[in-house]
Amino acid sequence: MASVRFQGVSKTYQKDILALAKFDVEVQDSEFLVLVGPSGCGKSTTLRILAGLEEPTTGEVFIDDRNVTDIKPQDRDIAMVFQNYALYPHMTVYNNMAFSLRMKKMPGDKIDHNVKEAAEILGISDYLQRKPKELSGGQRQRVALGRAIVRHPAVFLFDEPLSNLDAKLRVQMRNELSQLHTKLKSTMIYVTHDQAEAMTLGDRIVVLKDGYIQQIDTPLDLYDNPDNSFVAGFIGSPSMNFLNIVLKDGIIHVGDITLENAPITGIPEGEYLFGIRPEDIHPSEGSRLSGEVEVVETLGNENIIYLKFSGRQFAARCGPKVKAVTGGMFEFSIDFDRSHLFNLDGIKMRVNET
Ligand code: ADP
Repeated sequence: MASVRFQGVSKTYQKDILALAKFDVEVQDSEFLVLVGPSGCGKSTTLRILAGLEEPTTGEVFIDDRNVTDIKPQDRDIAMVFQNYALYPHMTVYNNMAFSLRMKKMPGDKIDHNVKEAAEILGISDYLQRKPKELSGGQRQRVALGRAIVRHPAVFLFDEPLSNLDAKLRVQMRNELSQLHTKLKSTMIYVTHDQAEAMTLGDRIVVLKDGYIQQIDTPLDLYDNPDNSFVAGFIGSPSMNFLNIVLKDGIIHVGDITLENAPITGIPEGEYLFGIRPEDIHPSEGSRLSGEVEVVETLGNENIIYLKFSGRQFAARCGPKVKAVTGGMFEFSIDFDRSHLFNLDGIKMRVNET
């Protein structure tokens, strides 16, 4: 168990490819921290710098109070789990898990204890004599986890470990990873591009874009109080709906329509981006707000209705009984208390505050 601190870390590849900038993050002991963002935002680079596989261009990395910036990967007391498992195909599960401990010259009885203990935790005790090709994808991923667990590392690093699994198995393994974290109480840092994985696994989430931190927060705070329109749009599925609006006399205008609302105070008049999540749009017969239905996704427990409103596609998350037909009109109201306002640079505006 350990804390991790990135201090002013940046990484530039080949002189001008900025992969990571001004990365200052402290991970608490036993915390599950998730790094999330679109492809190319610098997630893997961050993890590889912590693992010692990549040198930072500037800054330092600490594990507890030990500066590990110049320490070799094998001496950092961390274990990394990758998406492609990286298992040795000719070795049994047992030997795959024992391999790194043998390299460290750990006594045989201690190796045996650690391997069996990890296998027990992961529910793979019955497969120890099998080869990787005799296992399902989920079982292979458990072996990859097992190889990390046997080492009792100070910090676990995960680089998109579930992306090779099918959707159902991914959800199951996500659940198991959460339980594993509770059991081991270890510090874990997890990289994913999948916001649902980030939301369900993270104690805290770091949202990255183009190498820069956008926000660090708990999942619910990210969801309810995004600092900018990027985070607002990235977290949540379907994504938050956005509208270009003009604020005049405290009233929101969308093209020719005025959105009914209590007057907005505390910010200057002008153009803004208005954001509202799909679950905060409600069917409302006779409402002045309406749009043509483009697609209806019937999921059984809910209907997601996609409509055209003010030139934008709008998603409304509705109950399973709400009827809508493609090409018909959908009349709706907006829960303004749950809406967000961003300036044209995407920065969140604090409204109605004195
Ligand atoms: P992510 O894991 O979020 O997809 P990465 O950390 O892999 O992003 O990459 C961040 C940026 O750095 C990307 O623009 C990527 O193309 C670039 N990059 C990553 N590794 C290298 C490398 N070895 N050489 C040059 N550019 C790289």
